[in-house]
Amino acid sequence: MQIANNTVVSIHYTLTNDQGEVLDTSRGHEALSYLHGAGNIIKGLEKALSGKAAGDTLTVTIEPEDAYGEYTEEYVQVLPRAAFQNMEDVEAGMQFHADIGFGPQIITILQIDAEGVVVDGNHQLAGEALTFDVEITGVRPASAEELSHGHVHGPGCHHH
Ligand code: ZN
Repeated sequence: MQIANNTVVSIHYTLTNDQGEVLDTSRGHEALSYLHGAGNIIKGLEKALSGKAAGDTLTVTIEPEDAYGEYTEEYVQVLPRAAFQNMEDVEAGMQFHADIGFGPQIITILQIDAEGVVVDGNHQLAGEALTFDVEITGVRPASAEELSHGHVHGPGCHHH
């Protein structure tokens, strides 16, 4: 069956950046299963997979606008030290969930200085063109329950 909205797709993938560095891979793990058309994976990859079938392989490079967005300078902000409860535990490189004015997301601490804590709300892969090497290992219709939840149930489900 072909990949279309409301199918559950299983893929093995290897993700590399512009420099050819491997950022992530499902090889050696369980295949990734997602609900197609529900925004479970980045837009560009979803688009590239539409119409493919189990057994197909593809390599696709996705520009930032269809991946994790362009790097946005405004997302780098200085927070007062008082915003952190345990300042002694805070160090550069730490990541946490927060909402600093543009919706909750993962924030990375860049540096800590006298003025406060410099944080970056950009996704770590913002501004990067991403290349996915994909093998489609399965396509099946989604269940009514999966459709109502907007995600896959069963192996690989992290929502329940
Ligand atoms: Zn569910």
